[in-house]
Amino acid sequence: MSEKIKGFAALTKGATLTPFTYDPPTLKENELRIDISLCGICGSDIHAIDDDYSVFDFPFIPGHEVVGVISEVGSGIPASRIGERVGVGWQARACGHCEWCLKGEVQLCLDVGNNGTWTPYGGFSTSIVVQDEFAYPLPEDLPSEHAAVLLCAGLTVFTALSRYYSPAA
Ligand SMILES: [Zn+2]
Ligand SMILES: [Zn+2]
Repeated sequence: MSEKIKGFAALTKGATLTPFTYDPPTLKENELRIDISLCGICGSDIHAIDDDYSVFDFPFIPGHEVVGVISEVGSGIPASRIGERVGVGWQARACGHCEWCLKGEVQLCLDVGNNGTWTPYGGFSTSIVVQDEFAYPLPEDLPSEHAAVLLCAGLTVFTALSRYYSPAA
């Protein structure tokens, strides 16, 4: 892929979003490229644009309630997944070797600066690249605009649900 990715970025802290293009990231073995059809907006996007968390680089493209279609796969992923509709939330990757990743709790990965969907740029774009395990296949009967808003709220309550809900108990 050589065409530039188009997005809307805050060029500096607190700036109004403006058209911005960048070179497409090269896919690693376990990564997917997703052509974005829809992206929700969350309060955290506004905090990020305003740099309230002090962890973002500018220019910054927000967007972490992403729905799209897999358009390219890394060498470790079957090409048959191209065309699949998926959703992506706040997290796009995990380091795989910190104490939480090794426990299988990748949502707590300590590599916070690098594992967000905004790295290098977020979902207010024509496409993003994410690790396979953070692209969730969506049920056919779930409309994209409904799925998108679940991808942040759902992630927010994931730990509580996984810890306290056990169908076998
Ligand atoms: Zn980790
Ligand atoms: Zn959010």
